[in-house]
Amino acid sequence: MTRIETALQTASQRLQGHSDTPRLDAELLLAEALGQDRTYLRTWPEQALTAAQAADFARLVERRLAGEPVAYLLGRRGFWTFELAVTPDTLIPRPETELLVEQALARIPADAAWSIADLGTGSGAIALAIASERPACTVHATDRSAAALAVARRNADALGIGNVRFHQGSWFEALPEGIAWAMLVSNPPYVPDAAPHLEARGVRFEPRQALAAGADGLDDLRHLIETAPSRLAPGGWLLLEHGWDQGEAVTRLLAGHGYTDIRDERDLAGHPRLAIGRRPGP
Ligand code: GLN
Repeated sequence: MTRIETALQTASQRLQGHSDTPRLDAELLLAEALGQDRTYLRTWPEQALTAAQAADFARLVERRLAGEPVAYLLGRRGFWTFELAVTPDTLIPRPETELLVEQALARIPADAAWSIADLGTGSGAIALAIASERPACTVHATDRSAAALAVARRNADALGIGNVRFHQGSWFEALPEGIAWAMLVSNPPYVPDAAPHLEARGVRFEPRQALAAGADGLDDLRHLIETAPSRLAPGGWLLLEHGWDQGEAVTRLLAGHGYTDIRDERDLAGHPRLAIGRRPGP
């Protein structure tokens, strides 16, 4: 018979060296196996696990030891103000991507009724965050992956966010014609094809097509920057997340394509992370 606190101690010891946060992982996985939250574990450290709970927990810990990200084991991840369903068909939303949401909201007036598109939405993180904060806007979310789009739709339904439209397809091809977009945003793939990062712990479980983008990682960013001016309204904004070492290259591309108001914002870790430009106004 194993008690909650003992199970946690054993598991976090085993997870040392396999995770940067062994105790937290153990707590999240045990709470999942028990169908409870982490507070419950602190409240009832002496409670014995049933055989079924112990078996469920053991399975989750084994998968974590094999490198699977906690977000995939739980099937969800916190982003912005909500919990999103995530599956191996979607990238796991990263905290630094909240910078894109913040900078987008800083440019959208509270009562604006803009048409906005999130290209390559994955779990829907960016689109849903913007849509929830700007209810008068319509946010169009695209993805090439039908499976990812299904997850994004499920998230919109679960959160009751109605001002989002979903379109399957590659980048601009997925967007409906005849809309002058006030803002286009994307967290595209931007990791170089040969980067060791793609094989890193956790990352190797994520969809490669959401991460890798050519020899220099700039293939999709280049396409987005080249094509966006033909779809943006005059004065419309483009916001693009990029790699920590790509800020100069991306702002140079924006300048080369005639964007104005170009800037690059740093994430909480101090890395250049978000390039912003504007189609020249009327
Ligand atoms: N920031 C992610 C990572 O480092 C990459 C996300 C992306 O390619 N858009 O794993």
